[in-house]
Amino acid sequence: MSHRLAAACALILVAAACAAPPPTLAPSPPPTGSPVATPFTAGPDTAAAPAPAGPSATPCSAAATPAQAEGPYYRAGSPARAALIEQDTVGEPVLLRGAVLRLGDCLPLAGARIDLWQADGAGRYDNAGFGLRGHQATDESGRYAFETVLPGVYPGRTPHLHIKIFAADGRELLTTQVYIPGLSEGMPDFLFDAQLLARDEGRDEGGRRVLSFDVYVRDGPG
Ligand code: FE
Repeated sequence: MSHRLAAACALILVAAACAAPPPTLAPSPPPTGSPVATPFTAGPDTAAAPAPAGPSATPCSAAATPAQAEGPYYRAGSPARAALIEQDTVGEPVLLRGAVLRLGDCLPLAGARIDLWQADGAGRYDNAGFGLRGHQATDESGRYAFETVLPGVYPGRTPHLHIKIFAADGRELLTTQVYIPGLSEGMPDFLFDAQLLARDEGRDEGGRRVLSFDVYVRDGPG
């Protein structure tokens, strides 16, 4: 009897032992790990990110740069220059650069004139001379750049720069104002328009702040 029992037990043990491995093979559930493969497929997704290769078409849908009031401090006859900072100029240096582009086809307006005037870092305009005033012609790519300072606050106004754009033939195409990201947004000023915020380009090697502002203007006859 005990003999048969022992044999039966041995059989059961063997069977159990044999059956045991399968559960160990049960790592087949890892196929549940197959969804792990899915996240991997997400990788290519990331690679697809730089795909937006169609930005070339986008810029031409750019809206016209809104016009804004000239204000009381414009003076015609500013000097032709890119560097507006003089020895006694007050304010944090900044490079403002960008391009003047034609609305619709976004072609650069070469030889357009961009006139800039602004308050210094203390909010003062030079109304006697031409401090922080200057103009230049855009290059073949419609580009311009001014070395100037961040404008300060004056009563009722958040920091801003004024610009005027003239066609190469002298027609005035636009008068507007440019606002400073991180400076101009938080102050009550009914003229402020977020569409006219310059783009923050960080700082150059010398630590100077760099802002960019592209201008889209209508340049047709009349
Ligand atoms: Fe002003």
